[in-house]
Amino acid sequence: MDHSALAGWYAAVARDLPWRRTRDPWAILLSEVLLQQTQVARGLEYWSRLLDRFPTPAAMAAADLEEVMHLWQGAGYYARGRRLHDLARAVCDPDAPWGGLLPSPGTADDVVAALQSLPGIGPYTAAAVASIAYDLPAAVVDGNVRRVVSRQSAWGTPSDRDVQQAAAGWMEAAVAAGIAPSVWNQAVMDLGATVCRPRGVRCSACPVKATCKGTSSEEGPEAFPAPKPRRVKTEHLLAVVDLDDHGRPHLVQRPATGRFAGLWGPPMVDANSEEAAALRASRTVAGHVTHLLSHRRLEVAVVVGRTDEGRSPDAHPTSSLDDRVLAVAMDHVEA
Ligand code: SF4
Repeated sequence: MDHSALAGWYAAVARDLPWRRTRDPWAILLSEVLLQQTQVARGLEYWSRLLDRFPTPAAMAAADLEEVMHLWQGAGYYARGRRLHDLARAVCDPDAPWGGLLPSPGTADDVVAALQSLPGIGPYTAAAVASIAYDLPAAVVDGNVRRVVSRQSAWGTPSDRDVQQAAAGWMEAAVAAGIAPSVWNQAVMDLGATVCRPRGVRCSACPVKATCKGTSSEEGPEAFPAPKPRRVKTEHLLAVVDLDDHGRPHLVQRPATGRFAGLWGPPMVDANSEEAAALRASRTVAGHVTHLLSHRRLEVAVVVGRTDEGRSPDAHPTSSLDDRVLAVAMDHVEA
């Protein structure tokens, strides 16, 4: 692996994103959490909005969860917003040692361990914040890094440990070659995101092609790593949209933990339960929504009834599934 070639490539192609111009660990943490499941263009919009309103952990800790979720609305994977709020409150806890701030610089191992002790921070996010904010040699491993490591070594089914060890070895060699840890981590991730892509790999544009066993293998680079088997479960739900005289639905707040935690939406129950049978009996069928989550497929039957307790959905944060359910109900009523 020619570390300098990859760092040089990154210097030439790196996009000028605002979180790459700051060393504020809170701003970097926000960007990392957002970008885990959100496209860069959308992440940029949400990052600016969240940072404007919550420039420090203390500003977020002082806000209600509901306000955080409102700003998060539309970014998806809502548990991230809730965990961020938990984290802000944890570092601002007067009985905790943080004093309202994220862990300060130290050794890479200490900072990564301190970050991982906070709510919602896993190995990837801890290494990303430690390396990007403090330039500590903590190697990140995400899907992009795993793919580049696997292809460079022509590994079909590497263990997490194999990949972590290889990434740590690359980091050590990069630092020895005078490359900053923040640059190195982002260079490997960018290579995976834009050149060493899952499909449509662009080996001819790759700065580290010379050392790649995957590209010169008989199977070809895209054979590495072998896809992980994925089992998607299907869940059948009944959504009950009861409307008042103004066409406003009865909404309930989802529990503080679990799917769509803290968001609002029409009541939903297991479609095969006795409760669902009773609810269905006194309402009309409006339609059906299929919604895909990462490991689950939700098949949601939508029924419509009457209520005196409608609420305006605009004033309550709702998930994209609930938005779709409400749209089906409104279409039915207006038809
Ligand atoms: S040569 Fe191709 S497969 Fe190998 S690291 Fe570069 S882009 Fe990936």
